[in-house]
Amino acid sequence: MRCNYCEWRCELSGSKYGICKMYHEQDGEIQERFPYQWSTYTVSHIESFPFYHAYPGSKSLAIGTVGCNFDCQYCSNAFIAKGEPDTLLEHLFYLTPEKVVKLALQTGCHNIVFNVNEPTVSIPSLLELSRAARQEGLAMGCLTNGYTTDEATELLASAFSFFNISLKSISSDFYRKYTRAPNVEPILRNIKRLAANSHVEVVTPVVPNVNDHELLEIARFLSSANPDMVWHVFRLLPEYKMKELRYPSIEALIPVLEEARQLLPYTYFHNFVGSDWVNTECTECGTVVIERLSLGCGGDRLISFDCQDNSCPECGHRIPMLGGKIEWNQEVV
Ligand SMILES: [Zn+2]
Repeated sequence: MRCNYCEWRCELSGSKYGICKMYHEQDGEIQERFPYQWSTYTVSHIESFPFYHAYPGSKSLAIGTVGCNFDCQYCSNAFIAKGEPDTLLEHLFYLTPEKVVKLALQTGCHNIVFNVNEPTVSIPSLLELSRAARQEGLAMGCLTNGYTTDEATELLASAFSFFNISLKSISSDFYRKYTRAPNVEPILRNIKRLAANSHVEVVTPVVPNVNDHELLEIARFLSSANPDMVWHVFRLLPEYKMKELRYPSIEALIPVLEEARQLLPYTYFHNFVGSDWVNTECTECGTVVIERLSLGCGGDRLISFDCQDNSCPECGHRIPMLGGKIEWNQEVV
């Protein structure tokens, strides 16, 4: 019996596990091996994931499980993503969907974001969680590598209303070499599919001499999916099997990103302290409408939000945004 959640479509008959090791065949069905087992639940600023154009300023409950269907050479989370799920069990928390929702409410969170590993490896639990979250009016978002089958993409679209999809390269050669996935096409297809009906932001980690020459081609693709697409270019600080690589040069990338911004005005550049590429300018008159602080390595947060009804206060131009600004709930920790 083949697993239908991601494009690997692993054969799971008998006692076999697939690439992610998170599903097995039981009673003639593909089932999760560790339902409702979470590796993390922490409170975060929504900007830190990053989401820049969804519920700015809001408090999110960040959650994750274990396992991944990719094997990225530069994974910054290999312990959780690539560890043997059985041996990680002692580090996990068993929480029913209702308990997770209760935690989000108790900590004053506006939404729940799945961000530690790949949501595709825990789809049934996440569908249950999304039902419980919806009952309490909590929105759900996730970070994903986008390597789902058409059927699983529909399931993700029913569970989550905002997505951060990692597009690591536009070439299948890159994916084969650095992630083991054979083909970029399903990811491009899913970006287009999800961007048509949901809020999508895309992240591209830049690796010097590996994918830095592709940036404009990626910008052109994203612009064809949605000219208002929010694109986060990350200086990759390599980990795991690529620790020896040098860091990308900020000065070399800026002229390329300036060109990319002509195609995609909401292009951001992260992972260095003091970046002013994390602010949002009105594309009509140039007024800085949203200021953020970049602490590098995912510590971003909102500093000021000067839109009125999600429009520029100077010229009235609309800034694409899911929801408006949400006040950080100070009442609870
Ligand atoms: Zn303006």
